[in-house]
Amino acid sequence: MKKELFQIAIDGPSGAGKSTVAKAIAASMGIVYVDTGALYRTVGYYVRTQGVDPADESGVEALLPNITIEVKYENGVQCVYLNGENLGDKIREPEISMYASTVSKNPAVRAFLLETQKEIARVNSVVMDGRDIGTVILPNAEVKIFLTASNECRAQRRCEELRAKGIDVSFEEVLADMIARDEQDRNRDVAPAIPAEDAVLLDNSGMSLEETLAKARRIIDAGLAKKKDKRSGLYKFLRFLLGPVFRFFLQIKVVGQENEPKDGGFLVCANHIAASDAIVLCAALKNHQPCLMAKKELFQIPILAGLLRCLGAYPVNRGIGDVGAVKTSIRHLEQGKCVGIFPQGTRRPGVDPRTTPIKNGAAMIACRARADILPVYIHTEGNVTRIFKKRTVIFGKPISFTEMRYDPENAGEYARICEMVFDRICALGEEYKTQCNQK
Ligand code: C5P
Repeated sequence: MKKELFQIAIDGPSGAGKSTVAKAIAASMGIVYVDTGALYRTVGYYVRTQGVDPADESGVEALLPNITIEVKYENGVQCVYLNGENLGDKIREPEISMYASTVSKNPAVRAFLLETQKEIARVNSVVMDGRDIGTVILPNAEVKIFLTASNECRAQRRCEELRAKGIDVSFEEVLADMIARDEQDRNRDVAPAIPAEDAVLLDNSGMSLEETLAKARRIIDAGLAKKKDKRSGLYKFLRFLLGPVFRFFLQIKVVGQENEPKDGGFLVCANHIAASDAIVLCAALKNHQPCLMAKKELFQIPILAGLLRCLGAYPVNRGIGDVGAVKTSIRHLEQGKCVGIFPQGTRRPGVDPRTTPIKNGAAMIACRARADILPVYIHTEGNVTRIFKKRTVIFGKPISFTEMRYDPENAGEYARICEMVFDRICALGEEYKTQCNQK
């Protein structure tokens, strides 16, 4: 059976960690890693050996017919051969970086390297890193990530990388070189190093490699799942059929819809006031089908159990720490899905949410899956238990995993994070009520 191929594009400025991330992703998925910078470096290297000024466009173009570049994989490592010679680390010298950047502005060089890159992706599933992968080389890639970080952060990483290879450099030198090269790459006329419109931006300043990888994996899982569409057929059908009915009777209004994340597994945490809250969440989320925990007793009713499962619900044994439900939630998040949780655990109608106890499950799941949390406040006017009531769903800004500052050494972390999340939820409600009163 022919395997379905897929493409992952990772673009971004130098030193953002593209190659480290791309290599790890490729290894874990068993697909090919392509470092396209090595191709430009190879041309830059050749131009230097010939003593030609890299900025001399026609001079460089005249050299191209003398160059044969081959990309081979030896023990899973990409090797670039220039006219039959494996250049190894010779292309990693700092001086070659600037040569590569300058020759890469030349349209003839870009055209010369275009087919080599496209051909690799035509016959392999790939993770390709570079500057124009998402915009030019693989415009239809299933996943596009634009990986970036602050200048200082990137320069520090590049310094460590070069020093580990025995290349002696100063931080200031590397920083200046990096800024000049990025400037040149971003502002060139052909294939400038800018994010594709549909790329997901990942700024990993201050993130560890492990955190960056976890985040990148979630973006990738979400992107690949989207190819099939994360929402089940039944869910889409019911939403299409019943959405307008629910929206009419429950009179759902959404505030802050722009805060609904575009991609990646994330947790939705909301206050819980009525049995209809699960439906309200489903109606309010535009692009995601939330996987919701439902009490296990509901799964003992034959037809309802099947329906709930089709809709992505899964059972939870309330009252005990249900390890199975926690694991299912983490798995869903790792697969790039959205998981809905009510931190209050049970409905608390007509009570000030700030005075209700909250459970730690949401924080535990978010931390284990390293997922972001979307705080949501469900506001109902008057008697909350009545069905035909106006409901306003307020989406807050997502709380990133980094922002939670999770410290695994500290025993009270889940409680602290859950409180922080629930405070945000309550604040959304208070802010909304104040705005309404002012009108
Ligand atoms: O990624 P790396 O730092 O090895 O790339 C060296 C140079 O090659 C970059 O500064 C950039 O100018 C050029 N490049 C490019 N397009 C790519 C990959 C690299 O223009 N896809």
